[in-house]
Amino acid sequence: MEKRVYNFSPGPAMLPLPALEEARRNLLALPGAGCSVLEISHRSKTFTEIIEQAEANLRKLLAIPDHYRVLFFQGGAQMQFAMVPLNYLRGSGKAADYILTGTWSKKAIQEAKTQGEVRVAFDGQSENYSRAPEAGELDLNPDAAYVYIASNETIQGVQFPVEPEVGDVPLMCDASSDILCRPTPVEKYGILYACAQKNLGPAGVTVVIIRDDLIERAPDDLPSMLSYKTFAEGKSLLNTPPTFAIYVVKLVTDWLLDEIGGLEKMQEINRRKAAMLCDLIDASGGFYEVHAQPGSRSLMNVAFRLADATLEDPFLKQAEARDLAALQGHRSVGGCRASIYNAMPVEGVEALCEFMQEFQDSHRG
Ligand code: PMP
Repeated sequence: MEKRVYNFSPGPAMLPLPALEEARRNLLALPGAGCSVLEISHRSKTFTEIIEQAEANLRKLLAIPDHYRVLFFQGGAQMQFAMVPLNYLRGSGKAADYILTGTWSKKAIQEAKTQGEVRVAFDGQSENYSRAPEAGELDLNPDAAYVYIASNETIQGVQFPVEPEVGDVPLMCDASSDILCRPTPVEKYGILYACAQKNLGPAGVTVVIIRDDLIERAPDDLPSMLSYKTFAEGKSLLNTPPTFAIYVVKLVTDWLLDEIGGLEKMQEINRRKAAMLCDLIDASGGFYEVHAQPGSRSLMNVAFRLADATLEDPFLKQAEARDLAALQGHRSVGGCRASIYNAMPVEGVEALCEFMQEFQDSHRG
């Protein structure tokens, strides 16, 4: 096998090796099917079992209540930026409350504004998007169409430690970069969605978990592919879904259930990984610095800087030479970022910490 590096990419990101191996083993022919998952009809019995199993795995992992549906969309997370306001803001006569904690919630706001009135219930800009809001800081409108958050800002490495309290207003959440990283009380959300290419599988599919009453409330005058109602009625199969991506979501969730042992265990591992890295940075005496404030630090993306920015380039090059890949920060903010999603093994973070300590030691006078 070609060598595999520790890949700290923010997405598409590292996948669990057992899931990749099973996909490879079965690529030419699925057991009993006589052909590849790439070659079968999305309406075949074999694929029906795959999509049902992917849903069942997600339901089990997240303890999704019966009054929620699990849908598989295309169009990525950004299509949901548009679909949420298209279905629940446009024509509602209300405004929507958005909690602005970083790049992705900002982008979601821009999209929502094309469909109706947006209120910003918290704006993290003055602190350079370095934390999630405290409960008392939210300026929420009890009559809002919905409240919107990005539970984890992938670029800034800022994660809500817990869900904000929003009363009876539906809470819509972009969980693209932290779904399945810890147990999540789905019943606190109206919609919880995530593109797959970080913690769920390959790019191409977006999982949407949506409460039944919201499906019923979606307007009747939308194109069927953009309506939660018609899409749910079609059981995610209005048209040809991304069959291979859904198959890999099944494999990744099998891995979480069978090899990791569920989300409590996954959370324990994720906490260990993030703490290892953040502790090293905090103990570096300012050589490295985490962007996010304590209390809002992400378990999944550790965005950090070197105090001496001229060292960033050699840092990244030497990391790469040690098979620690894709550590550069997002082009919009610079710096460095280690994305340590579920599939990043503890050994990968240990190797990164070892390198970072050595790099620091060799550049301290
Ligand atoms: N939201 C978050 C939190 C993300 O991290 C990303 C992608 N990095 C997106 C949305 C956009 O996802 P997509 O490319 O699937 O539209």
